[in-house]
Formats: sequence, structure tokens, C-alpha cells
Amino acid sequence: MILPGGLCVPCTRMRIEMNDPELLVQKFGGTSLADLKGFNASADIIESHAAGRRVIVVLSAVKGVTDLLLAAIDTAVEGGNGGHYLDQAIDRERSIIDELSQQGISTPSAANFLEEQRSTLSQREQGIRLLGQCPDETRAKILASGEGFSSRLMADLLRHRGLNVQWSDTDVLPLANDSWLDALVDIEAAIPLLAERLEEGAGITVLPGFYGRNADGGIQLLGRNGTDYSAAVIAAATGAGLCQIWKDVDGFFSADPRIVSNAQCLDEVSYDEAMELTYFGAKVISAKALAPLAGKQIPCEIRNTYDPSKPGTLVHSGAKRTHIVRGISHLHDVTSITLQGGGLRGRVGIARRVMDALASESISILLIVQSSSEYSITLCVRRSDEDKARKALEEEFHFERLHGLIEEISVQSDRAVVSLVGEGMKQYRGIAARFLTAISSASVNVEVIAQGSTETAIAVVVKGEAAQSAMRACHTAFFSDSTHIDVILLGCGNVGGELLAQFQRQAQSLREHHADLRVRAIANSRKLLVADDVLDLECWREDLEAKGRPWSFDDVITIRENLGLLNPTIIDCTTDEELAGQYVRFLNNGFNVVAANKKANTASLEYYHEMRDAAEKNFRKFLYETNVAAGLPVLDTMQGLIRSGDKLKTFEGILSGSLSMIFGLLEDGMPLSAAVAKAMELGFTEPDPRDDLSGMDVARKLLIVAREVGLQLELDDIEVEPAVPLDAVSQVGRSELIDALQSLDEDFSARIRAAGADGKVLRYVGRIEDGKCRVAIEAVPSQKPLGAVRDGENALVLFTRYYQPIPLVMRGYGAGAAVTAAGVFGDILRTVWRPLDQYVG
Ligand code: ADP
Ligand code: ASP
Ligand code: MG
Repeated sequence: MILPGGLCVPCTRMRIEMNDPELLVQKFGGTSLADLKGFNASADIIESHAAGRRVIVVLSAVKGVTDLLLAAIDTAVEGGNGGHYLDQAIDRERSIIDELSQQGISTPSAANFLEEQRSTLSQREQGIRLLGQCPDETRAKILASGEGFSSRLMADLLRHRGLNVQWSDTDVLPLANDSWLDALVDIEAAIPLLAERLEEGAGITVLPGFYGRNADGGIQLLGRNGTDYSAAVIAAATGAGLCQIWKDVDGFFSADPRIVSNAQCLDEVSYDEAMELTYFGAKVISAKALAPLAGKQIPCEIRNTYDPSKPGTLVHSGAKRTHIVRGISHLHDVTSITLQGGGLRGRVGIARRVMDALASESISILLIVQSSSEYSITLCVRRSDEDKARKALEEEFHFERLHGLIEEISVQSDRAVVSLVGEGMKQYRGIAARFLTAISSASVNVEVIAQGSTETAIAVVVKGEAAQSAMRACHTAFFSDSTHIDVILLGCGNVGGELLAQFQRQAQSLREHHADLRVRAIANSRKLLVADDVLDLECWREDLEAKGRPWSFDDVITIRENLGLLNPTIIDCTTDEELAGQYVRFLNNGFNVVAANKKANTASLEYYHEMRDAAEKNFRKFLYETNVAAGLPVLDTMQGLIRSGDKLKTFEGILSGSLSMIFGLLEDGMPLSAAVAKAMELGFTEPDPRDDLSGMDVARKLLIVAREVGLQLELDDIEVEPAVPLDAVSQVGRSELIDALQSLDEDFSARIRAAGADGKVLRYVGRIEDGKCRVAIEAVPSQKPLGAVRDGENALVLFTRYYQPIPLVMRGYGAGAAVTAAGVFGDILRTVWRPLDQYVG
């Protein structure tokens, strides 16, 4: 009896009353009964709950024993030495008794049972080996012995503690069908039997789970993991106030905690949600157990034997719908079977025939979907039923196959079902879309999609090997309140180094915005360093030198799989052409690519399109905002305009920081040679300024802009007039360059004077007009946007359908490590698919 405030007083009433809210049913599974520590922990829990209330305890076998008994049978059927496995099972049980007896604790009923079983089981094993087969009836007797032992041992242990304990066999659970291995219990018929058995009994009744006895006293099993079901039917028949399932985990998790390390323990789930999750693999409670509990509305707690202070998960009808998605589960070893052919179209009763054919072989169909064209039907069964199912369908559709009405029945083994479950899903749109996007973001192909009309679950069929990645991706999409941004930085020079410094500065603020940016690897031209976890941004230079290794592109490709990354991004801060040639491969292997490197976008048009196709096909992002005018949001703006129906008429731009600086100085009257020398001194030029003066850098940027607006051009199609005649400077060494330029000083000064007389200034301009691109020195009015741009600044002037006669102008620094790195950073943030905060309860 529990008093207000939770205090317990001893209960003297022994007679069991049906529908007794104080009655507690407790189930301890194999994970709680792995060894003596587990038995003691379980006994402590039983004892603490038994103070003041009647408790019925239902036990599984010692961990692993059922599997060993099964191995013994299967080995003996094949004529092998099944005794070897029997010995292992008995040794495992014996060792617990021995340990107890060393502590002076005797376990008479368990010890006797074990001795008896030793000879019975070995005789049975010999018989099976001789016959080469094992009738289901014998199989049931052998497998049930594990529970027979553990329940007796627990009763002995509790008695030793001075508790009032009754052991009862399961003849109180009359069976509702004649299946030897997967029987059902007749709950209504069990009510009087339980009432009678428990009437004069003790405060604690211990029962073996997993089996019942039929009217002839024969043992029938309740299916693998059947002890949950035993507990559930006992709770339903007695009308218990609560059924507790004790495990080795804190409760029902949002996903299998062995696969998804950050799975969350749920406070509560509804019966329907628990059914959907367990049906498709969440092993935490057997699916079969939920119907009896739901039928009688008996709340069920899932608790941790090894940490009983934790509240666990409550499965009940009143579970609040604060979570739209409650959990994700996966079922392995599934086979998908497809029937397809024109002969299925418009024919009535095909689905029924499929179901009947499989039902007659006792094969349960996990899911079934029909294409809307009625051209194909796909169904999933367990791998163990694959052969039987294929045969049954081949026979059933023999006529149709013979006459070519359906094609060969296609069978895909090694599939898995991943399902998303939550009652709240009914009220929200876009859940399926997000589910599928998450799966595709993990580069997993979805073969079949099924959503029940209750909308409590959506299930997909994927290749078995892909199930874990799919699970993790979905879990992140629906349960993570922070997004992981995993990056691999190739090139840690000026821009790359600055980017790492910006990461470090921004890390805290990103975390506050639920984004966790993690640098997983960095490389320079010589070495690659892959972090075990996350790179230490304090000392990356030293670490790269000390721990980095020479690398190849293959090493980069393997990082994703080795570290299990879902949506990683490769950042190219080099100017390397070969690396740019790898982008398609990176995209095909599940990486996003963020490029400061212009080489890829100015390679052949064929490669240009290949990269975009690869990005689209793989649901990856290829971003390169800094290819033109560094951090200025030029390309993004242009893409936005074009998407909204605008059209470029004319483009003109100052796209080179160095030439912007040089032409500004010329305007001030400085001779060309001095202006170039000054720009070099200020660090505004490439190490060899001829790379700027040749105009090719501007030509590449102009090509990128042109392709962005849909012009199908190659680099060769751009007309380039170098900033200075190249033959005048090409023959000299770098140190003599400035002297060589002096020969051009007078000519330049004259051009500038002539332009000035017209109110114009000289600028080095990239222009797109009438579908053609040209890079050249132009005299532009000093009052117009380009005329005012100098000192290293860039400017882009767009005349479009909507922006005319006054153009859209963007200007600002278009070079320099800080703005370029910031632009790359912006691209990285755009690779993220955000968790939908509203999906997290
Ligand atoms: P027992 O034999 O004690 O009944 P099981 O081994 O059958 O226990 O099941 C418990 C295991 O189920 C846990 O150890 C856990 O790894 C796994 N599991 C799978 N899915 C889930 C989930 N969604 N929540 C909790 N545990 C899960
Ligand atoms: N021992 C049985 C099994 O392993 C029943 C159970 O554990 O619930 O299937
Ligand atoms: Mg189990």
C-alpha cells in the first residue's frame, strides 16, 4: 500500500485481487541476468518493490543460454556435437550457483533442477543427433529449460534474503493456439487460474517466462524474447497497476543506442509508437508484448537494472505528443521480393493472393506496397523466410509466369527496414520529405517507401549495409538540436590559415546557434593530418608538421567512411589544377565542395556541367562564392536574380584587386613602372606581377560570371587584351621587370592624359555584352561606378531586365585573406541542412 507522499507500509493481504492497481509485474531479461552481479541487482530491485505490495516476477534465461541451447539443437540436427553447446550453457548457469555457494548461499531448487537437466538435455541431444531432426515439441522443452533454471535460482536467492517467495510454473498460462514455438496465451482463461494459484501464495511470486503449458502439460514457447509477452499477459490477466521491464539500458531510446551514440532516452511513448518501433527492430521490448498491455491499458515502465535510480521510459496511453517524431528503428536481415509485369495491371485480388500464399506458409509479411500503376508489388519478409516465400509465390503465380504476364520474381536479400515513428507526425507536413532528405544526405538509396494510413510511421527499405548510416542521418535530422559541420581543409596558406583562425574565433557563437563546426582533417601540398576526433585549432601548424603524412586524393576520399561523417565538406583553398579535377569524385563520394580555387569553374564546359550534375545527383553542394571578388556576395546575388526571372543585359566589372590598385595610382600621375612597384610593395600583386598584368586572372573570373548567367563559353572564347603588352616584358627576369616597364611609362601617361581630357579614367575592365566577353583597358567616365573604384577595391556593375537604366552595383574589397576566408566560411554554412528546431520536443 502506498501512502500519500510515496511512503510504503507492509501489506498483509495475500489473496490476489484481479484489477489490483497495487499489483506489480516485473520482468527481468537476459541482460539483467548475465551473471551473479545481475541476479543480485535484480534481487535488490524486487526486494525494494516488494515491501508493501504484491509482486509477480517473470524471468528470462541467463544471458546467452537460449542461444546456446538453440546452437546445441541445430548442431545435433546436422549430426554434430551439440553436447559441446549444452556444456557451455550448463557451465554458465553452474558458475553462478558455485559463486553463491562459495559465499555460503545455498540454492537447492536451482541446483537440483540443473542436475536433472544435465542428464535430460544430454539424452535429448543424443536423440536429435540420431534422428537428424528435432520435433518442435522437443525443441520447446529444451529451450524452456533456461527459464526453468533462472526462475528457480531467483526464488532461492530471494528466499535466502528472508523474503516470502513462491515459485510457480506457467501452467497458469493456458495457450490459445497449438504453435509449439510461437504460441499465444488465452488471457481470459488465465484470469481464474492465476487467481487460484496466487491466492494463498507469498508476497513475491516468481515465474519462468518464455513458455506456457497446454492442457496436456506440454510446453509451448511464446516466441523468441517471449518473456516480455509472458509478463504482459500476466499483467493483463491480473489487471496489475504496472508492468516493469528491467533491462541493461536506461529505457526506450530514440534509436538503438549501440548504433546511434547520441540517442536520447525517452520519458514516455504511446502503445502505438512502441508497437511501430519494436515491430521494425527496436529490441527494447518485444512487439508481441504490447498488444496485451495496450488492450488493458496497463502502463509499462522500461528501467535499467544497473541504475534503478533512473526513471526509465513509461509506455502508456497518455503519452504527450510533444515530440513529433518519437524514435527511429531498423530491422536487419530483411528480404524484399518484387512481382512485376503488365499482367498485374487491373487484375483484382493480386495482393490477396500474395498474402494468402505467404500466410499458408506461416510467413509474416513485414510490409507490402503496390506501385500506383499496379505494375508491381513489393513486399518484405524476414531473411529466414526468403526461400519459403519465393517458392510459395512462384507456385501461386505459376500460370502468370508461364504466360509472361509477370516477369521473374525478383528477390533482394540483405535489406533493412528503417522506420520513423511518432504519433505527432499526423499533424505536420514535410516529415516524410525530411526523412528522405536525411537518408539521401547519407548517400543511401531508398528502394521502397511505405507509410501506413495511421501516419504513425514511415518505413523505407534500404540495403542492409546502409542501414546504420541512414539511422544516424535520420537521428541527426530529427533529434539533434545542433548540426555538425564536418570540414576537411585542403590548403592552409594565407586564406586557409585565416579560415582556421576565423573558425576558432566563431566556434563559441556557432555553438550558441546550434552548429558544431568540426575540422576533421587539414592538408598542405606535402602533408595530410586526419584528426581522430576534432583538430586542435590552437596548434594545427605544429601538429600538421609533426603528425601529418604524405597524401593522395584517395586518402581524402576514405575520410568520410573512416570517420562515419554524414555531410562532410571539402574546402579547397589551393590554386591547384589537379585538385580541382577531383571535385566530381568528391561529390560522387558524398562530400560537399567549397572552392576558393577558380580552376574547376574555368576548366572545360564539359567538366563544369559534370560537377553540377554530380552535386545534384548526390544531393551535395558545390559552392564557390569567392571565385569572383572574394567575399562579395556576387554569385549568390546573381543566382537569386536569375532564379527570379531577371536577365543580364550587360556586365562590367573591375575584378582584380592588383589592377584596381595599379590603375588608381596611374590616375594620381604615377608612372606605370612605379605604380606596379608600389602595388608589389603593398602586397597587392601575385609574386610575379605579370600574372596579374596578363589579364588571365580577370578572364577566368569573367568566364565564371558569364557561365553563371548561362553563357556556354570556354576560356579561349574570352577576348583578352593584357594590361601591358606582354612581349615588352616577357623576356626579362623578375628583378628586371620594373626597369622593363619603364619603357611603357610614357605611353601610359599619354593615354591617361588623353582620357582625362574627356573626363575619363583608365580602368582594367571585364565586360559581357551581347553574349561576348572581353577583358581590356577601357577609358570610363570618372563619374560612373567603375571610374570611382580604385585602391584595390573591386566593383561589379549589372545592367539587367529589372536593373536599368540604373544598374545594380556591388563594390568592396575583392581580394585579401580575411575577406576571402570569410566568403569561404559563408559557403560552408550554406552546406548545412539545419535540424528543424520545431521537430525537437
Ligand atoms: P533482454 O534480453 O534483457 O530483454 P535485449 O538484449 O533483448 O534485452 O534488449 C536490450 C537491448 O536492446 C539493449 O541493450 C539495447 O542495446 C537494444 N536496443 C535496441 N533498440 C533500442 C532502443 N530503441 N532503446 C533501447 N534499447 C534498444
Ligand atoms: N530466453 C528467451 C530468448 O532468448 C526468451 C527471452 O529472453 O525473453 O528468446
Ligand atoms: Mg533477450
